[in-house]
Amino acid sequence: MSDVFEPCASCGAKCCINYRVVLTDFDVKRIVKSESIAPEVFCELVREEEVKHEEKAVIFLSDGKDKINSYVLCLKRRRNGHCVFLGKEGKCLLYGARPTVCRCYPFEVGEKGELTKVKNYSCPREWKEEEMGTGEYLEVWKRREKETDEFAKKVREWNAKYGRKERRWGKALEFLCEGC
Ligand code: SF4
Ligand code: SF4
Repeated sequence: MSDVFEPCASCGAKCCINYRVVLTDFDVKRIVKSESIAPEVFCELVREEEVKHEEKAVIFLSDGKDKINSYVLCLKRRRNGHCVFLGKEGKCLLYGARPTVCRCYPFEVGEKGELTKVKNYSCPREWKEEEMGTGEYLEVWKRREKETDEFAKKVREWNAKYGRKERRWGKALEFLCEGC
C-alpha cells in the first residue's frame, strides 16, 4: 500500500515525540515482517492510565498476589520519550510498515463518513484537501476498525483465560501476537 500522509516527512515528527502508539497484533505482524525483528524488541505493555488513546484494548495481568493490573499494548519509547522507530532526522524508520494509528493521525472518520480532525488536534501542519487522500484514507480507516475489533476479541479471550492468574507479560505477548 502506498503512504497516506507523505507531507509528515517535513514536520519534525511532533506526534511521534508526544504520544503513545497503541498496537494491534496486525500492526505487530507487519512490523515483524518488514524489519525481521521479534515483537519483544519493539512492543511493551503500558499501564492503562498512561495511554490517552480512546480505542484501547485493556489487557489484564495478575500481580502474583490478589491484584489485577491493566495494560495496553504499545510501541516502546526511548528514554527521551520518542518512539523507538523515530530516526535521527525526525523521520519514521518504518514508514511503509508503521502502525495503523500512525497512518490515521491526525484525522478520524465522522458519523457520516466525513474526514475530521481528531479531538485535541495538536498537529502543527495545515493540511490541504488534496493531501489527505480521502479515498485511500477511508480504506485504511476501515481496516483499522476491523483489526481493532479482532484484536479486542483476542484480548478478551486472554483476560478470560489467563488475565487473572498470569503475571508474565511475555506470556501475554506470546498469546496476543501468536503467529506474528
Ligand atoms: S501528523 Fe502532524 S504532527 Fe504528526 S508527523 Fe505529520 S505533520 Fe507532524
Ligand atoms: S512508528 Fe513511525 S510514525 Fe509511528 S510514532 Fe513511531 S516514528 Fe512516528
